Amino acid sequence: MSTAPHTVKRRFMFSAAHRLPQVDEDHKCHYVHGHNYTVDVEISTVSLDERNFVLDFKDLEFFEEFLRNEFDHKLLVWEKDEKLVQVAFQNTDIFKVKVIPVTPTCEELAELFALYVTSVISTMLSKDFKVRVTVWESDKSCASYETKLT
Ligand SMILES: [Zn+2]
Repeated sequence: MSTAPHTVKRRFMFSAAHRLPQVDEDHKCHYVHGHNYTVDVEISTVSLDERNFVLDFKDLEFFEEFLRNEFDHKLLVWEKDEKLVQVAFQNTDIFKVKVIPVTPTCEELAELFALYVTSVISTMLSKDFKVRVTVWESDKSCASYETKLT
């Protein structure tokens, strides 16, 4: 798919805590802190469906539910961050823990979300489509990941 002129975008939000164990101790993100995340999901197609939609916005409600159930108000822990895994699971009375297979950077969260959205959307859309997920951790900073299914 070279061009996909039609795009819909829907915005989602969740709050979570994390840390980035892969950065040095003099980097503030080494330590547990939180963000009010904004997640923009864009779906693009070459042509519209019989309703003249890329897809119905309500078809993206699954992602709202996914974020609310799996990520909102959780401590996001990279599965290889042994220290935080240990602390989190020893204190489940104060942490709602979400273990993820990637480090919780905007870049890797965008990839994780884009792959998930793509897998669900692929059951709805038979035509060529593109998914772009942008994860904002502040008003100024974001990262995007794009998948294409042709
Ligand atoms: Zn952060």
